[in-house]
Amino acid sequence: MEYADYRRWSARATDWIEHYLGTLRNRRVRAATKPGEIAAMFPRSAPERADDMETIFADFERIVPDGLTHWQHPRFFAYFPSNAAPASMIAEQLTAAMAAQCMLWQTSPVATEMEIAMTGWLRDALGLPDGFSGVIQDTASTSTLAAVLTMRERALGFSGNSSGLSGGEKLRIYCTSESHSSLNKAIRIAGIGDDNLVSVATDEDLAMSAPALEAAIRADTSAGLRPAGLACIIGGTSLGASDRLRPVLEIARRLGLYTHVDAAWAGSAMICPEFRPVWDGIELADSIVFNPHKWLGAQFDCSVQFLADPGDQVRTLAIRPEYLKTLDQAGTVDFSEWSIALGRRFRALKIWFLLRAYGLEGLRERIRNHVTWASELAAKLERHPEIEITSPCRFSLFTFRHVPAGSDPDAATRLLLQKINDDGRLYLTQTTCEGKFVIRFVVGQFDCTQDDVMSAYDVIAELAAA
Ligand code: PLP
Repeated sequence: MEYADYRRWSARATDWIEHYLGTLRNRRVRAATKPGEIAAMFPRSAPERADDMETIFADFERIVPDGLTHWQHPRFFAYFPSNAAPASMIAEQLTAAMAAQCMLWQTSPVATEMEIAMTGWLRDALGLPDGFSGVIQDTASTSTLAAVLTMRERALGFSGNSSGLSGGEKLRIYCTSESHSSLNKAIRIAGIGDDNLVSVATDEDLAMSAPALEAAIRADTSAGLRPAGLACIIGGTSLGASDRLRPVLEIARRLGLYTHVDAAWAGSAMICPEFRPVWDGIELADSIVFNPHKWLGAQFDCSVQFLADPGDQVRTLAIRPEYLKTLDQAGTVDFSEWSIALGRRFRALKIWFLLRAYGLEGLRERIRNHVTWASELAAKLERHPEIEITSPCRFSLFTFRHVPAGSDPDAATRLLLQKINDDGRLYLTQTTCEGKFVIRFVVGQFDCTQDDVMSAYDVIAELAAA
């Protein structure tokens, strides 16, 4: 295929997209394929001679759509949403065509300067103080890794990067059972070790207990260990729980710990002032992550990290060989120095398109609807004689289980989940709550309607009775 053919194939792809998105509601949500079935459709090696685009496109239509779990399906209520608002899809198409590598200011000045402007817009939209600077990372896992590496280097006086970790002090990072597994991964990659990630007790609301945090830090210090960082959660993946930030961030600040707040999912809800009571104390954080690619609508991947003082993270991550220096340009920002990877995509463009095409009011309305509809569904399910709501609606996430008389609820709930996902009209996933196997329900797909959400009641009730 040559550039001259681009218009034709791009138009063909656009027609396909329009049909796909327009008929998505009629498809089953989770792929029905068995492991290995799709792999068997590919020849063992790449073609020696070029295939024509007609054949390639026909193979795409034959193999791909039915092998997908449809994340943009309006009845996708699993995990957390990974939205792709149409305006951000257009921005991604333009990004793909320009294919700019945005590692340094000079490799794409507009990408850098738009990134500064867009993270500024988002900082204000989320009600964060002016002092925070933003950077767009690929995922929350990367943002959290960057924060954990910074915790490590700050605690070691920035000697870990130069001298390595062996034989040094044991660093301790504090979190709770509600933290995301990306924190555990960051702890491993940073060389801190699973044993030094301390799970602090929580209260009845699943928020970190401030007295337990202070006691754990003091006990570690007395034992000759080195408290380095605190990782808080706003909107945990399992049950949507949030820490009460102010008391624990105050303790961390008083005792010299670097702090990171993971609001990967629920951060988007902070564009609505009425949800901001959970943000109380956020101005005390050193690092905050939220993913516009989850609930807000920016095409995956798009994770924004806000930093109170980028200097510590830049000192941790920046390496400046001659071939990466920008000559004769004082005062520019090179965002690769704030990131793990050197190469960076032009992600600010989709935020620019998204915020302008829907406006903050349009995005707020969607999030408010999702929260309201999730509560309405939870309230209706609660009245079903064989359904028990196991955790309350936090933002737009609640959990439930199936409790038919005379059956083991864990087994019954597992069976119900399997029936729901095999049926295909909805897609839900599981977690545990107080040791019980439960089903998560998360509302957040960009185009879902109240009908999509409430129709889940009928599907769940029908399959529970079957
Ligand atoms: N933090 C929370 C609370 C999450 O729910 C997730 C993913 O769902 C992550 C972090 C990791 O996000 P990412 O896939 O962007 O690395």
